[in-house]
Amino acid sequence: MNFTELLSIVSNSDTGISFLQQHNIVKVSEVCENGHIMFIKGSRWRCQKRSCRKEKGLRINNWLTGSRLPIHTIVHFIYYWAREMSSVTFCKRELNMGQNAVVDWSNYLREVCVTEIFLNHIWQSLCGEHVSENKTHLKLSSKIFLNSGLHYN
Ligand SMILES: [Zn+2]
Repeated sequence: MNFTELLSIVSNSDTGISFLQQHNIVKVSEVCENGHIMFIKGSRWRCQKRSCRKEKGLRINNWLTGSRLPIHTIVHFIYYWAREMSSVTFCKRELNMGQNAVVDWSNYLREVCVTEIFLNHIWQSLCGEHVSENKTHLKLSSKIFLNSGLHYN
């Protein structure tokens, strides 16, 4: 997949959410605390029962927790990062990301997100290849992952 192809799939927040759902990073379904089925409205889960209308964030209990970047920007950044094209200058210009976001997300992907899900789904989908051990910028750190408290449901 090249970036043009990615952009045709993931071009806005909604399609970004769908993409992450296909890769089991964002849940496909959710129920509210009262057991009703929820749907996604904007960037939140919302109960479909009119008398309830509970809401919860999409970025809970997955590796989006705590992130503020638009979902599609995150997917685009992962693509560029996987292609080793994620310099601060480049991401500022192409993705409208701040320096801190670039640094934080680079560290995050390197240290935390390199899980089996990331390896098997996202990487393969974006790059069409398996991650090999000679990808030296990928330092697999299962220890950090296990200690991170993140859940990849
Ligand atoms: Zn409800």
